[in-house]
This record gives sequence, C-alpha cells and structure tokens, in this order.
Amino acid sequence: MKISVIGTGYVGTVSAACFAELGHDVICVDIDQSKIDQINAGIPPIYEEGLSELLKKHAGNRLSATSDYDFAVTNSEVSFICVGTPSDAEGSIDLGIVKAASQSLGNSLKNKKEYHVVVVKSTVVPETTEKVVLPIIEKHSEKKQGEFGIAMNPEFLREGKAVYDFMHPDKIVVGALDKKSGDIVASLYRGIKCEITRTNPRTAEMIKYANNAFLATKISFANEIGNICKMLGIDTYEVMEAVGKDFRIGRHFLNSGAGFGGSCFPKDVKALIGKAKEIDYEPQLLRSVIEVNERQPLRMVELLKNRLGELKGKKIAVLGLAFKNDTDDIRESRAIPVIRELLDVGAIVSAYDPMANANMKRLFNSIEYYSSTGDALRGADACLIMTEWNEFKSLDNEFEVMKKKLIIDGRHMLGHVKNIEYIGLCW
Ligand code: NAD
Repeated sequence: MKISVIGTGYVGTVSAACFAELGHDVICVDIDQSKIDQINAGIPPIYEEGLSELLKKHAGNRLSATSDYDFAVTNSEVSFICVGTPSDAEGSIDLGIVKAASQSLGNSLKNKKEYHVVVVKSTVVPETTEKVVLPIIEKHSEKKQGEFGIAMNPEFLREGKAVYDFMHPDKIVVGALDKKSGDIVASLYRGIKCEITRTNPRTAEMIKYANNAFLATKISFANEIGNICKMLGIDTYEVMEAVGKDFRIGRHFLNSGAGFGGSCFPKDVKALIGKAKEIDYEPQLLRSVIEVNERQPLRMVELLKNRLGELKGKKIAVLGLAFKNDTDDIRESRAIPVIRELLDVGAIVSAYDPMANANMKRLFNSIEYYSSTGDALRGADACLIMTEWNEFKSLDNEFEVMKKKLIIDGRHMLGHVKNIEYIGLCW
C-alpha cells in the first residue's frame, strides 16, 4: 500500500523504513528540512541498530521524504501521525504538535476524493484520537468520519532495538471506530508474525499507557526494594533473581539502579497522572513511581558525598550519558539530574558516552567531554556509571589513571573490578 508517515523522529523513521521493508511505498513528512534531506540521502536522522541499512536500501526507491503534506496525502492511502507528544509545564500531555499535524492533514484531505485513513501512532492519552484529532480533521477537511477513516495504533518499540521490535513485536494493537479503517491498518502489518489486537481508539490509547506505566512501576518497585536491601546489607540482585522466577512476575525490569529515563516512561506516566487529574482521580501509585524515580539518581550523589565529603573542586567522571545503552538519546537520562547536582555543588565533571556526547553537550556545554573512558577517568576523584553500555562491563585497568579509585555504580556493571573501592547504588 501507499503510506505517509508524519514526523520522522525515532518512531516515524523506524516505522517508515520498516513499512518500506514490508513492501509498502512510504512518504515521510517532516517540518525539519535537515531530516528530510538526510532521509532522502539514505542517512538516518537518529541512530538505531539496522536503520541505516534499511534507509540505504529503500531511500530514493520505496521511501522518500518531503515537507509537502498535499503531496504526501495525495500519494498515499494511509497517514500515520508520529509526531512528538511532550509534557507541558505541569507534566500533562502537550498535544500542540499532534493538533498542528492533524490540521495539516485535514487541509490536505479537503481536496482528496479517494478514501484515506488517518492513524495516530504518537502516544496520546485516552480520548485524544476521538475528541481531539478527529474533530480537527473533520473541521479542516470539511468531511465527516466515514468519508475518511480514523484509527489509533500505538507503538511499543524499544529505542536501540526499534527496528528489531517493529519487525518482531509482542503485540500489534489497532483501535478503530469502524471496521474498514481497522482492516486497512491491520493489513499493513501483513508479513509480520504477530496476533493483532483489534479494539476501539481509547482502549488502544490506554493499552499503551498501561503498558508503560506498569514497566515504570516495576522499575521503581525494584529500586524501592533495592534501597531497603542496601541499608540491610542484602544483594537486591540475588533477591530479584529469585523473585523473577515467579512466572506471574517475570525477571525483566527488576534491575534496580539509577532509574528510568527516555522519551517515554517519565513523560507517559506523568501524562497519565495528568489525565487522571482531569477526571478527578488521584493516582497515588503512579505519583510514587515518579517520586522514587526522581530521588534515585540523586542517591548516587549522596553516596559520593558520604564517601568524599565536600564535592567542590573534585573531579567526577560520569560514564554514560544516554538514557540507556545502544542509543544517542539523552531525553530524561538519569545522568542529567546527576550532572546538574554535581555542577550545583561545584564539582568538575568529565563525561564520556560512546554515542551521546554531542547531544548532552547541547544541554551542558561547560563540562568536559571525552572520546574514551580512559580520558574521562584521568585524574578523577570518583567515577559514576550512569548507562548500561556493554563496553563498560569489560572495563578493568582503565581505572588506574584515576586520582582516587572509587566507582559508584548506578547500573550493576562493575562489581568484578579489583583494587578499587566499589559502591553499588542498591547492592
Ligand atoms: P521525535 O521528537 O523524535 O520526532 C518527532 C518528529 O516530528 C520530529 O522529527 C519533528 O521535526 C516532527 N514534527 C514536529 N512537528 C511536525 C509537524 N507539524 N508535521 C510533521 N512533522 C513534525 O519523537 P519520537 O520519539 O519519534 O516520538 C513520537 C511519538 O511516539 C511520541 O508520542 C512518543 O511518545 C511515541 N513513542 C516514542 C517511542 C520512542 O522510543 N521514542 C516509542 C513508542 C512511542
């Protein structure tokens, strides 16, 4: 089929490249000309394993990018809205970008005679597709639902493994108001081995939030237990290894550490809290999930202060800036509050990340960035491990260049290193 993908960030670019790989013709739309140029040149605007190969294979062939909504809508049968849904000042969802994209789609649909389905893939709080996107499209296209289709198809991919996850999903959820649009959206995934859950848009929207909120809850739960374990001299990893054997619980997301970050968990849990507030429900558990997560990285600085005393003028090496391994994405990275706190107390920060130095530099340009672990560690009074990069697991002699040999590990990576004082965050 012919698909247009609105917004070429992590979700849009990966979806576009994977739909092309499934045999569809895909037009990407963005308002950022540099992303359009990169995609047309077969260069991914973001790093994702396997994405470069797919773009090289399909760009200029089955895949192209443009800023022209009219062209994209005219030349496609289905449009996926994949734009960002950031938090507003209170933490609730900011639908400004979704509204702008819906308006542009509506305007372009006005002159189109053929049936067209608009699919919301962005993560939006329940009722958004029906009460926000649909009315905007109806208004600007001067058409009624039924003359065009509307559906909600949330995305569950993990950054870093996004291409793999798109092609090998655990679930595909299609929420539609009418069978015809749902059938069209479901048919796009032909070729992927996965059962498709068919439902209505608001349920599809809630499935995405419930999914992320549960995973975030698991992490904050593991961190709470981990903090208690630390105080009692218990290894929380040994505890969770056994707890995770219970099939009702499972071992995933029980690793305690510096907490969750990224563009989804913090924002989505806060958005669900915002939606609950809107309908006068007090989401106590969800609030605690966020609170535990906000305290967790700062516990690393506390451990550092307990060990080194005053941090003013001390050189602290921060290893890992990306919110997780295998991505250059720093959004809500747990390294951010840690670096902010270190700078506030007058520490000198030297940082290294295999992929995310450039992105973090836009946020903190006064700290020193290095292109290797060894360079970041040279002369440091302590080292904080903030991201679970594979290459950190094998670090050993690299720590010899430090002034004081002290590791505070936020990711349970380096317990094996000899001749160094090692402090685990929760173990
Ligand atoms: P992103 O910020 O990386 O990308 C959004 C893109 O939309 C940008 O390229 C931006 O230039 C473009 N854009 C902005 N306004 C536009 C407009 N009016 N028309 C066309 N393009 C426009 O966002 P993302 O991380 O890809 O996330 C997109 C959505 O998917 C969000 O709702 C997010 O919560 C959800 N999601 C993200 C992930 C993830 O891992 N990143 C996973 C699942 C779901």
